[in-house]
Amino acid sequence: MEVKVLNNADLSNNPVIAQMSLYNHEQIVFCNDNATGLKAIIAIHNTILGPSLGGTRMWNYNNEMEALNDVLRLSRGMTYKSSVAGLNLGGGKAVIIGDPKKIKNEALLRRFGKFVNSLGGKYITAEDVAMTSRDMEIIHMETDHVSGLPENMGGSGDPSPVTAYGVYVSMKASAKEVWGSDSLSGKKVLVQGIGHVGEVLVSHLTKEGAKVYINDISEERLKAVADAHKAEVVSADKMFDLDIDVYAPCALGATVNDATLAKLKCKIICGAANNQLANEVVHGEAVGKQGILYAPDYVVNAGGIINVYYELEGYNRERAMRHAEGIYNTTFNLFQLAKKDSIPTYMAANRLGEQRLASIAAINAVL
Ligand code: NAD
Repeated sequence: MEVKVLNNADLSNNPVIAQMSLYNHEQIVFCNDNATGLKAIIAIHNTILGPSLGGTRMWNYNNEMEALNDVLRLSRGMTYKSSVAGLNLGGGKAVIIGDPKKIKNEALLRRFGKFVNSLGGKYITAEDVAMTSRDMEIIHMETDHVSGLPENMGGSGDPSPVTAYGVYVSMKASAKEVWGSDSLSGKKVLVQGIGHVGEVLVSHLTKEGAKVYINDISEERLKAVADAHKAEVVSADKMFDLDIDVYAPCALGATVNDATLAKLKCKIICGAANNQLANEVVHGEAVGKQGILYAPDYVVNAGGIINVYYELEGYNRERAMRHAEGIYNTTFNLFQLAKKDSIPTYMAANRLGEQRLASIAAINAVL
């Protein structure tokens, strides 16, 4: 993928299209409706592999440029995620500007649904920050181009078990790379965040005989998961001092940063959270220098998008799980690419995504 670097003059003279051309975004739709107060941006980054798919995020952005930057960055991320996961999906994303507590209502969501519908399937939406499955049902009243619907509406339901399975196999592939065997038996794993994904991951790990430490801000979750899976609770101020083999971030982004890297003693970072590296370039390099193998987040947590993809095909959880199992090979292959090209693992993941895009673009050009 060619990346053009623009200078400040380019950006200030022509901020929107110049920003689109920076990472070759195909289309942006600005949506406005005075009656409902809807202000939204739908960004379609790339449709070489298929229709663009990505969630709708609602956020009270400080200004429109902040919203634009976010939607451009997130939609591009979806192109890479689906490409590396081997899905026939492109990258897209939408943001609705405003405080969900104040302005989100049925009319606004349905108006947004009409905008999604106007794209005729070129963009398929899903749940993201501050959107619920009920919101998706409302959007679905106006468009069929919605994914991640509840099971009782013919959808794929909660993707977390598929995501957790993908994280688990990715961790095994990482173990194979580091220790020559993919067994996690006896390995010490810290799972930070034991919500929908984290708990299922803990269950896979303890079943295999790993020693699992858990941390969460919810005392209730900690008690429930510790009791159910015989995991050991560790406090936030102690967890990065533990002598562990694997750190699995499954709560928030940016937990791989200067402060945590100064303490972390693990050999592998592999978890479900998005955007784990506080700064991709800085911390993506730093992990390797510290002898830690970083399994890139968007490769590891692709189970969610894989699950949604099979909803579009007529949902079958077995097929989704089988596809998620492939994350093992994808993870292992990208480690080999990183070694061969002497590049950090995050960069190897991006390269894999770009290679698939380029190869499919080439066959698309053949009649
Ligand atoms: P969740 O909301 O069910 O669970 C998150 C857990 O993290 C909660 O138990 C919460 O109490 C805990 N938490 C929040 N802040 C914390 C903190 N500062 N320290 C420790 N724990 C904290 O979310 P989830 O669906 O399990 O997803 C986990 C992560 O994986 C998120 O970052 C999500 O974006 C990402 N992800 C999830 C899926 C999926 O299928 N659910 C797919 C891809 C990526």
